[in-house]
Amino acid sequence: MKVKDGIIGLLIGDALGVPVEFERREYLKEHPVSDMMGYGTYNMPPGTWSDDTSMTIATMASIINKKSIDYNDIISEFCEWYENDAYCQYGLFDIGNTTQLALINYINGNPALECGPDDERSNGNGSLMRILPLAYIKDIDYETVENVSALTHGHKRSKISCVLYIEIAKSMIENDNLDIDGHIKIACDKIINYYKDDKELIHFKRIFENDLDDIDKISSKGYVISTFESVIYCLKNTDSYKDAVLSAVNLGRDTDTVAAICGGLAGIYYGFDSIPIDWIDTIPKIDKVLSLCEKYEAFCDEY
Ligand SMILES: [Mg+2]
Repeated sequence: MKVKDGIIGLLIGDALGVPVEFERREYLKEHPVSDMMGYGTYNMPPGTWSDDTSMTIATMASIINKKSIDYNDIISEFCEWYENDAYCQYGLFDIGNTTQLALINYINGNPALECGPDDERSNGNGSLMRILPLAYIKDIDYETVENVSALTHGHKRSKISCVLYIEIAKSMIENDNLDIDGHIKIACDKIINYYKDDKELIHFKRIFENDLDDIDKISSKGYVISTFESVIYCLKNTDSYKDAVLSAVNLGRDTDTVAAICGGLAGIYYGFDSIPIDWIDTIPKIDKVLSLCEKYEAFCDEY
């Protein structure tokens, strides 16, 4: 197990997507991203990560500090990011509406597990993009994953998305002998078996049925299901870390988050050494994240 496979994989996907967030797919077909760039959408230097990475590493820092999953502490660290620019390279420049609402709910004194909006419209990809650290914790249970989602995203669809993602990641971490389809199938079978007759499962139909070959039917906007479908499409249709994350960025729209979520799994599947070193070298403060990964791995080994 190497925590840095997934976490640096996620960070690099995020940073590749930041300069072209919201760009249309048609534009990126003409002007594809092929390398780490800077500026663009937020006018940030090359190698800048966004909310996806900040909230992921905030989660890891909380778990290391508390030596457990403490919901109040995790959401407090998210507030440190939101209010005081913790876990950033240059300060906060990107936050989703649902996440912002949840953090304001916490600041106003609401209980941590009731902060994430739970209406059907609040199913952006904002909890899926930060859930990966839980995949490294042995015997993590579904209720805990759902609760960590609910800190910002309380609807069942977002929670199931997080659980499915953790199962795919865990399969990849624990088993070297399967291809990508094999990992996805194992994870989907577990979800179908566990949630059984839950009416939310209908929204995962195309993922469960492996019906994701036509990219024109897949939006890469911020809706959690669209994001998940995009991520699986990119993993299935490429055969390296680099191509997986670049194809995710070049789908357009929510480029950083689709590439971050894709990059987390691609990093685990292909390994840290498959991530281009010149991209890693571009990232300001990368040493801090690598050292956090080492500490988190030591915690997970003992847990
Ligand atoms: Mg972002």
